[in-house]
Amino acid sequence: MPKCSCPVSDHQVRGAVEGSDLWTRFLETRAELYRPDCPNERKCACPCGEVIIVETVEDEGFVTCPSCKEKVCFKCQERHEGSSCAAYWQWRKENDTSDKAFEELMSSEGWRNCPVCQAPCSRASGCNYMTCGSMACRNAGGTNFCYVCGEKLMLATEHFTHFPDGMFSDYCLNKRKASMSQLLQEFTRLPIAAPRPRSMW
Ligand SMILES: [Zn+2]
Ligand SMILES: [Zn+2]
Ligand SMILES: [Zn+2]
Ligand SMILES: [Zn+2]
Ligand SMILES: [Zn+2]
Repeated sequence: MPKCSCPVSDHQVRGAVEGSDLWTRFLETRAELYRPDCPNERKCACPCGEVIIVETVEDEGFVTCPSCKEKVCFKCQERHEGSSCAAYWQWRKENDTSDKAFEELMSSEGWRNCPVCQAPCSRASGCNYMTCGSMACRNAGGTNFCYVCGEKLMLATEHFTHFPDGMFSDYCLNKRKASMSQLLQEFTRLPIAAPRPRSMW
């Protein structure tokens, strides 16, 4: 495949960012990709709504969508043939007018971005131990992270150890650290008590 340095075309982008309806649909598609029972089945969600069963990943990590015929990046599941994931997301961040609406959607739904692939993840049954369902993370061996602080959790035991008050409370080890250092800061801001005058007697 010849290397192409053309920027992402307008219609590719419009398809990817238009309206939060599309976002919702896309997120739903993304979410349903996670199927713990078939770890080897590879799927890729096209922004057009099509879910592609991946048989071959073409040059440079793209798969062709049978519905819109566009090439979809297998890694981030967006259509950005000719530019890298990083360049595309940078561009997207700077130009995406639906970002604000999307952020509102994120917070109203209580979604968190995966710290590794940035895919929005919803909290299943109120537990703070999050598992990213995106293909990118599944293909890389899975990502777990904390709903409270957003940090990646490496060990399965952190399901318990990272949450001293239990995995359903709005509290975790990092939050404790943060509030401790805040407390410490406030403490050091207090005026230092003047030394007591030596007793006269
Ligand atoms: Zn498509
Ligand atoms: Zn990509
Ligand atoms: Zn992820
Ligand atoms: Zn849990
Ligand atoms: Zn945490």
